Amino acid sequence: MPELPEAETIARGLMGPVRGARILGLEVIHPDIVEGPPESLRQALVGCRVAAVSRRGKNLVLALVPGPAGAGSSPLEPKDRATGPGQEGHLVVNLGMSGRLLWRGPGDLAPPPTHPALRIAFATGQLVYHDPRRFGRIRFLTPAAWRAWSRTLGPEPLSRSFTAAGLHEALSRSRSPLRSWLLDQRKVAGVGNIYASEACHLARLHPRLPANRVDEPGGARLHRAIRKVLGDAVERGGTTLRDYRTAEGWEGTNQHHLRVYGREGEPCPRCGEGIVRVVFSNRSAFFCPRCQPGP
Ligand SMILES: [Zn+2]
Repeated sequence: MPELPEAETIARGLMGPVRGARILGLEVIHPDIVEGPPESLRQALVGCRVAAVSRRGKNLVLALVPGPAGAGSSPLEPKDRATGPGQEGHLVVNLGMSGRLLWRGPGDLAPPPTHPALRIAFATGQLVYHDPRRFGRIRFLTPAAWRAWSRTLGPEPLSRSFTAAGLHEALSRSRSPLRSWLLDQRKVAGVGNIYASEACHLARLHPRLPANRVDEPGGARLHRAIRKVLGDAVERGGTTLRDYRTAEGWEGTNQHHLRVYGREGEPCPRCGEGIVRVVFSNRSAFFCPRCQPGP
């Protein structure tokens, strides 16, 4: 499942081709991935200009501003065009388990996406949402709905507003196992199962340690560890274990640098002890029993 570094890599990859470009058409192939009627989404999107591409937590975000009225020449069928100026707001794409957001330019030699669920047409190419399992979700939020939704998410861990003191204070209010706490998007935005295990190992904290038992030095280590594992993974273009691809269709490279995730039985990179896998809350957690003693 794509997490913060994967969403960040996709957003950066889309900036070049999509920022400033006007949406000429929208084709919804599988309406189940769209929130609300596809026709409403089409009226909101088509005609808009993409002001920026970013992310919030694990979600891709296209900021949209209305464009000039009148239909541009869309490569899509007439039924997939609209003639309005579009609507100000944010298109939020949650990639679910297996979603990809791929840019397809003219003369693109890569094979076409095998499971397209939605296509957004621009003059210079198409943005294709591909999702074989279709747990992803695409929705348009008005400015007010965007602010309300964004407030439900925790701080961005790579931003200045995410501090060691703030993290420790938030941890002290919960008895959840640390790994579960980190996966809760209301606590910290963008951390999923891979980077939760990686951060706990780097901080030398057991994944089942109750959050309120992380002491102040532990909180400071965890703060540094979260930023380090996420920041390094962004520089490496994300972690491709199976489905994730960049906007250009490439694999990331962070899977070659994982400390514990998916490495059951292999030596701990710090002490050489065998990495252990435990399952709780239906998800695997990986840790070193020597560096991360149990609670
Ligand atoms: Zn170890």
